[in-house]
Amino acid sequence: MRDLLPEEAEALRFTEQTAREIARLYGYREVVTPIVENYELLAAKIGEENRKRMYVFEDLGGRKVALRPEFTASVARLVATKMQSTPKPLRLFSVGSLYRYDEPQFGRHREFWQANYEIFGSKRPEADVEILFLTNDFLGKIGLKNYTFKIGHVGILRGILDREKIAEEKQNSIMQLLDKKHWEDATRLVKEASASQECVEDLQSLFEIRGKNLENLVVEIGEIVKPYPEAFEALENLRAIIDLLLKGGADFEIVLEAGFARGLEYYTGLIFEVYVREMAQALGGGGRYDRLIELFGGGKTPAVGIAHGLDRLLLALQKQGNLPKVPVTKRVLVIPVRDEMLGEAFKVSSILRSAGICTEVEVAGRSVSRALSDADRKGFTYAVIIGSKEIAEGKVVLRDMERRIQEVIDVDELPARFKA
Ligand code: AMP
Repeated sequence: MRDLLPEEAEALRFTEQTAREIARLYGYREVVTPIVENYELLAAKIGEENRKRMYVFEDLGGRKVALRPEFTASVARLVATKMQSTPKPLRLFSVGSLYRYDEPQFGRHREFWQANYEIFGSKRPEADVEILFLTNDFLGKIGLKNYTFKIGHVGILRGILDREKIAEEKQNSIMQLLDKKHWEDATRLVKEASASQECVEDLQSLFEIRGKNLENLVVEIGEIVKPYPEAFEALENLRAIIDLLLKGGADFEIVLEAGFARGLEYYTGLIFEVYVREMAQALGGGGRYDRLIELFGGGKTPAVGIAHGLDRLLLALQKQGNLPKVPVTKRVLVIPVRDEMLGEAFKVSSILRSAGICTEVEVAGRSVSRALSDADRKGFTYAVIIGSKEIAEGKVVLRDMERRIQEVIDVDELPARFKA
């Protein structure tokens, strides 16, 4: 886990602010869920790989709890319990830190941050498409360039495995291997689960299908999955999503990979991840999960969502030489000429802050000249010097640090001056 120094913390908060702005524009209302939750809830559908990496402990009340490794389980719990009767479709946003005992490396840490958007109560392709458009708008607004969406459909793979009567547990293990691109190992597991030779070959052909010509690829997949009615139905859903994306004017790069799976076990439909050439790891990932709310005791509530890795996004922006620039604000240092003027310095600083101006008071008792050279070094835009003669007349000395000129002005005029 890392410490974030001021510049890093500011950059992270900037990404959060942008994520919030996108949430506002799309009508996703923020919810705040706890960092510590019941272990069983968090572990239920997180997938074997992530389950092993959870921070699990017993609290003083003897409950088995864990630090949240993702948001979806918590938000789904909320929807299944306290928001059951909230009208659907329901759009929710969450942002904050998550914890996984991953092997630390570039772009992978044990504490990381996500912005998470989920839409509940629609099983229609337009909900999936909204999440993709929202993702594109967020990435664009944050300044990311040349990113690619990798998409797939869990329903197609599970539809085939279901017809072969492969148990859900086994299917989950197969998905974990596919997530890691271990296609041969996944095929071996399928064979071990006594799938037919025909099914093994069909899956092997599917794993080969990837590319940008979406409409043609859908036709190719269709040829393979024809004998599997559930997989074919899932493909129809993928076709509808792609159609709507193209009709809706999607101008971002999309690569379809028929053998693509994700580690989280709750997915049932479309899945996707975002990549840039400069980094091997995904910057964000999401998909459709239509049965999680029911699993948590809620009514039938289809859902689709996306989680953006905020700190990883910052690394991608840095690689692209496009780190967000936190806007420079006017900063003022108020310097009393002598200690007797400190009280007046606080009064003036309070007038400035009330007007919304970032103001610091000299608190180290330095002479005016030393305080000014420090203000120079730290990039203050102005200094306000409080001398006894001036303040007796309701005036102060205002120094423009950049232009190195100063003038005597009325205290009352100060706020207007900075606004200008
Ligand atoms: P997931 O919840 O696994 O779908 O991850 C969604 C996104 O969270 C990923 O695409 C990453 O951007 C980010 N992420 C996941 N794990 C980590 C990690 N250990 N360190 C940094 N970012 C992560």
